[in-house]
Amino acid sequence: MREFLIAGNWKMNATSAASAELVAGIIDGVPSGEGFSVLVCPPFPYIAAVAEQARGSAVLVGAQNVSEHAKGAFTGEVAPSMLRDVGCEYVIVGHSERRAIYGETSAQVAAKFVAAQAAGLTPILCVGETLDEREAGTTEAVIDEQLDAVLDVAGIDALAAAVIAYEPVWAIGTGKTATPEQAQDVHRHIRARLAAQNEAVAGGMRILYGGSMKGENAAGLLGQPDIDGGLIGGASLKAADFLAIAAAAAAQK
Ligand code: PEP
Repeated sequence: MREFLIAGNWKMNATSAASAELVAGIIDGVPSGEGFSVLVCPPFPYIAAVAEQARGSAVLVGAQNVSEHAKGAFTGEVAPSMLRDVGCEYVIVGHSERRAIYGETSAQVAAKFVAAQAAGLTPILCVGETLDEREAGTTEAVIDEQLDAVLDVAGIDALAAAVIAYEPVWAIGTGKTATPEQAQDVHRHIRARLAAQNEAVAGGMRILYGGSMKGENAAGLLGQPDIDGGLIGGASLKAADFLAIAAAAAAQK
């Protein structure tokens, strides 16, 4: 049985005081029960303090990005081992903002995925199509290219120790959410593509939905058979909003 993962991507928001307050509110309000986990991904400078605060609580900590290199002359980059060192268990790789704004290619994302796992981090691999790609009918081809880049380099067995997030780019930060059926169609496709290589890995794979998920639409999305949680941007910045999504996940377990 797959567990839900409710993951907050704080992006480039918060201050040290605001992040301390936000994680305190989340720790206090996480619903009790089994079958789901809650993760926060603060900006790099706040990770260590947030991880310290979350230690011993039900809240997991991750990062939003990572270098594909282990160490050395890479000014401004953060190595996977450094993230482990400060308490991260997860790291987002291939977020559409990284791909679109910073030009990360699928090959680079695959290298980050491999480097993260080598350091003991669980990668959350983001895939998703733009509005133009959806309207051109190429959604599945786009997702396949992004997935295959990782499968080709890391292999299907590596996916067993990872999470996938389907994030339609047109739904991120726009207030436009994919309908549960639209999301389920793509999630089913992703699982089937993995199943073609290894049914057990596909069956255990947590596939999150991301794109304007909030308390009001979470139950419908999380009720779909192939949706195993959410990667949440805007609604992860207020404890009450984020906890409403966690409560929707808890209610379904
Ligand atoms: C995201 O950035 O991963 C995201 C899903 O953002 P939002 O929830 O704001 O659409």
